[in-house]
Amino acid sequence: MAILKKLRSAQAVLTLWYSLVIAGGIVVFGLSVYLYLGVLQEQALENSLVEEADWIHQLVDLERKQGQSFGALSRDVERSIVDHFAGGMQNYIVVLSTSRGDLLYQSGRRMENLPPAVAPERDTTYIDTVDDPQLGRLRVAVRRTDPFIIQVAFPDRVAREVLSRLLTIFAVLTPVVLFLALAGGWFLTGTVLKPIGRITQTANRITAENLSERIPARDVDDELGELITTMNSMISRLQESFGQMRQFLMNVAHELKTPLTIMKGESELALSRHLTADETRELVSSHLRESVRMSRIVDDLLLLARAEAGQLVMEKVSVALDEILSELAEDAQILGSDKGHTVELTANPPVLIRGDSARIRQLFRILITNAIQYTDPGGHISIDSRIEDGRVRVSIEDSGIGISPESMERIFERFYRTESARTRSHGGSGLGLPIARWIADSHQGTIDVESKVGIYSRFTVTFPIDSSRPGKD
Ligand code: ADP
Repeated sequence: MAILKKLRSAQAVLTLWYSLVIAGGIVVFGLSVYLYLGVLQEQALENSLVEEADWIHQLVDLERKQGQSFGALSRDVERSIVDHFAGGMQNYIVVLSTSRGDLLYQSGRRMENLPPAVAPERDTTYIDTVDDPQLGRLRVAVRRTDPFIIQVAFPDRVAREVLSRLLTIFAVLTPVVLFLALAGGWFLTGTVLKPIGRITQTANRITAENLSERIPARDVDDELGELITTMNSMISRLQESFGQMRQFLMNVAHELKTPLTIMKGESELALSRHLTADETRELVSSHLRESVRMSRIVDDLLLLARAEAGQLVMEKVSVALDEILSELAEDAQILGSDKGHTVELTANPPVLIRGDSARIRQLFRILITNAIQYTDPGGHISIDSRIEDGRVRVSIEDSGIGISPESMERIFERFYRTESARTRSHGGSGLGLPIARWIADSHQGTIDVESKVGIYSRFTVTFPIDSSRPGKD
C-alpha cells in the first residue's frame, strides 16, 4: 500500500515524466543520427566507388593510348591496382573483364557472383547492387573502357559496420542514461518536494487549540516560501477569527447570565417565604422585564447573524425620511419627557431615500433611544436633517454623558458598552450600534460619531437621495 502511494506521489510522477521525455529524446536523436549517417555513408561510398572506377579507367586508358595494352592487362597496370588497393582499401574488390564477359583480373576477396557485365554506355559509370553468397550485399560501380569493363565493389556489411557500432553504443548508453535520469530525477524532485512534506506535517498539527503555531519560514524566497507565507497569514486570520468567536461567545454568555441570575435569585427568595399579592406581582413583572431583555438580546443576535449570512432581504422602495424623523421625534418627546429632556427637530426638509422603511426607522430609533438613555435628566436632544451634495445628512445630538476617545473606536463592536453605560440602570446589551451600522451600510449610507465626555455626543448618518424620484409633493 505504502509503495503504491509512493508510486502515485508527485515525486514519482515527475520523475517518470522527466525520464520518459529523456528516453524519448535519446531514441529520437539516436534514430535520426543513425538514418542520417546511413544516407551520408551510402552517398560517400557511391562517390568513392565511382572515383576508384574512374581512376582505373584513366590507368587503362593511358596504357591503351600508348598502345601497350590490347585485349589483356599489362603487369604494370595490375601492379598499380594491387598497390593502390592494398592496406586500408583491402575491402574494395576490383574486377576487370572483357566486354564479352571473360575475366581478366580480380583483386581483393573472391566474389562468386560477379556483377552482370552489362556493357554500359561508353565512358559512363553506373552504380549497381549484387548479392554474393559469401560477402552478402555489395555496391558496385561499373564502367566501360573499351576493350574492358571495370567493376569496383564494396561489401555493404563492412560499410554498415560503423553504423552498427553506433547503434550498439546507443543501445548500451540509453539504459545507463535512463538510470541516471531516474536516479537524478528522483533525488532532485525529492529534495524540492521535501519541504512540502514538512508543511503538511505542521499544517496537520495545527488545530483550534494551537493556532499560535506557524510553519517555519524558508531561507530561500521561492514559490514554496510564498506558499508558507500565505499559509501562515491564513492561520493568523483563523487565529484572529477564533479569538473573536471565543470573545463573542463569552459576551453572549455574560449578557444572558445577568438576567438569569436575577430571575434565579428572585425565585429562590420567593420560595423561601410566603409572598403578598403585591410582592408576587412585583416578582412576575421583574421576570417579565428580564425575559423581554433576554429575548431582545436573542432577537438582535439572530438579526446580526442572518445579516452576516446574507439571509436578510432589504426592501428597495422610496422612503420619505422626513416622515420617519417626524414620527420618531414625537415618540422621543414623550419618552424623553419622563426624564425631563427636551427633544427638538431643528430641520426636516422633505426627502426621499431608497431602502427598507422598517430598517431605516429601526436605525434612527436606536440612535434616539441611546441619546435619551445616555443623557442625564433635564438634557437636550436635537434631531437635524439637511441635504448636501446629493445626500441627506441626519444628526442626532445630545447633551449627555459623552463617549471617551478610546471607546469611540469600539462602540460599534458587538456587546461593547462604555464603563459609564454599564453602571447605569438601563439594561442595554451593546448590540444597537452594530445593527445601526449594518443598516446604514446596506443602504450605501454612513454613520459617524463625535463626542466630548460630559458635554455632548453627535451621531451623524448620511444616505444617498433617491434620484429615481425628483421629490415628493
Ligand atoms: P446599548 O444597548 O448599550 O445602548 P449600543 O450598541 O446602542 O448598545 O451602544 C453601545 C455603547 O455605546 C453604549 O453602551 C454606550 O456606552 C455608548 N453610547 C451609544 N450611544 C451613546 C450616546 N448617545 N451617548 C453616550 N454613549 C453612547
